[in-house]
This record gives sequence, structure tokens and C-alpha cells, in this order.
Amino acid sequence: MRSVIDIVDLTVEEIDALIATANDINDNPAKYAEKCKGKKIATLFFEPSTRTRLSFEAAMLELGGSVIGFSSASSSSASKGESVADTSKVISCYADIIAMRHYQEGAPYVASVNASIPVINAGDGGHCHPTQTLADLLTISRENGRLDNLTVGFCGDLKYGRTVHSLINALSRYKNIKIVLISPEELKLPKYVKDEVLDRCNMQYVEVCEMEDVMPQLDVLYMTRVQGERFADQNEYLRLRDRYILTPDKLVNAKKELSILHPLPRVNEISVKIDDDPRACYFKQVKNGKLMRMALILKLLEEAKNPVKVDRISGDVVKGKFVCPNHRCITTTEQELEQAFKYDKDNNVYRCIYCETEAR
Ligand SMILES: [Zn+2]
Repeated sequence: MRSVIDIVDLTVEEIDALIATANDINDNPAKYAEKCKGKKIATLFFEPSTRTRLSFEAAMLELGGSVIGFSSASSSSASKGESVADTSKVISCYADIIAMRHYQEGAPYVASVNASIPVINAGDGGHCHPTQTLADLLTISRENGRLDNLTVGFCGDLKYGRTVHSLINALSRYKNIKIVLISPEELKLPKYVKDEVLDRCNMQYVEVCEMEDVMPQLDVLYMTRVQGERFADQNEYLRLRDRYILTPDKLVNAKKELSILHPLPRVNEISVKIDDDPRACYFKQVKNGKLMRMALILKLLEEAKNPVKVDRISGDVVKGKFVCPNHRCITTTEQELEQAFKYDKDNNVYRCIYCETEAR
């Protein structure tokens, strides 16, 4: 059974095919209105995320299918202590595909190993959120007309921003992408993302503190929120905050073809004065997220007609040698789940197969 836990579970060719399907759904919605008739998606949200859940549910409904599920752990059997493995086996008897959001990293992978239906990771802690990245890729592809030869700026919180790391990872597989990292010192892109993605893929990148300096170069500007609670010194936060709010004056030297993305929700990092600018794409990005989820549901249900057990972890797995140091890892709570690590030869480390944290 094929599941999608991380964006890298999909090849570039598969992503291109999903983009083509999403564009076709957009142009010919009636053609797809009954494609999933009689099929059910289970949205298993152990952590509330109304926006993502509604996107999956709208996607399935627009394909003619139906929806079951829950919107928080307190309304599921997890509140009685049921394991993710058992939940996945039970839900496999009710539904045809699962979209799982979980506060623990690696939970959707555990679900995919145990379910007899495909599992889509709808966000697991700070680990992965592949359908958000698919939405971002479709938006760039539609707005810029390509996914290669682009200069992509990321602005705001680059340290904790899961969507930023995932999109950089996805873009690393396309040709001639230049990355511009715009953030305060406290929220710079972590070294491991630079080492593992930018350096390993020989991607060109620069780090700057001010967005005005680099604005004229950008084809894409990906904004994220700078959260006050990330700063040890609140005065420092207040001093910096306005520098990273996108206002019309900061766009004076920007390209006409720039696309401005934001994973939403926005708090105040993009002025509402930008919303009517044709370069603002963040609400289109929401629609694109639904289209890509529709394309992905169709693909996985089609593949599930001829189920072949696919293990996304290839190669040797080491058991009983390390303990995962990540306190948000699913191994900390799941009943009798054995610690398992895989050697990452590019970086010469062992990584937890569930949350990808390095063994120490
Ligand atoms: Zn782990």
C-alpha cells in the first residue's frame, strides 16, 4: 500500500503528474465530480487543524466521496489510550484512505505500516506536512509558469518553519533554483537544513537580514510568521517585528511577476493592503491545496486497486542500538514500538525511522 508521509516519498515526475491532474481538475471540475463515488476518507486529527482538515474533506466531497473522522484527540479513542497502530487497523475497516494529523512525529508513518489503506500525512509535529508543500509547488507552477530557474526568497521564521524546510527540500530537486534567506539572527535557517539540503544539492543561497535589499531579484517570496514567543528578549522582538511585515512600500522594487506566498494563517506579517495586489497568491494557495489533495487522493486510491506493500524505509534498519532523543517522537508513547534507526550515508549519522532525528 502506497502512503505519502514526506514530500520526498513522491518523485519529481509524480509531483509533475499531480500538478497536471490538479490543473485539469481546476479546468474541468465536472469530469471529477463522481470519481470517488462510494469512497470514504477518514480525517484522523489528533491535533486540531481546522483549515487542513476542511481542505481534505472538501477535496473528497468534490470528488463525490464522503468523509468520516474526528477533529481532536479528545474526541478519539486516543483519549482512552489506544495506540496509533490499533486506530489505523480499525479505521481500515471503515474507510478507503486516511488523512492523519498528529502532534507526535512519526505517527502517520506508524499508521501507514499498520493500515491496509493509504495514509496521507496531514502534518506530524514539526516533522512533515507534504500536502502543504504540494500546494506551494502548484502555486509557484501556476503563477510563475515553471518550477526551475527561479529565485525564491523565504522571509520570517526560518528556524522553526516546517513549511519552509519542506519547500526548500522539494525545490532542491528542480534545476537552477536560488534560495534567498531573509530572517533575523535568532530565526535563521538551521544548520542541518543548510548542510543536508542546500550544500548537499549544491544549491546557491544567500542569507540577509533586510528584505528590501534582495526584493528586486525575487521570483517568489514565501512569507512566514515571526512569533514573539520565539525570542528570549521581548524588546528585541518588538524592535525587529515591523522589519518583517510586508507592506506596499517594500514591494516598490519587486518584479512585476513576483508571487507572494504564505502558508496561512496570517497574523500581521503581510499588510492587508497587499491583498489586492495581483502578486498576492496566498488565497489562491488555499484553493491550490485543495486541488492537490484531490489529485493525491485520486492517485493513491487508484494505486490501492492493485495493492503492493511498499516500505518507504529501504535498506538496513538497526534495532536496539539507539534510543530516539526526540521527546515528540511517536516511539515515546506507542505500545511496544521498537526503536529503529537507519544509516544516513550522506551525513554519516543514524536517524530514527519515525521522526528522522539523529541518534546521539
Ligand atoms: Zn524518533
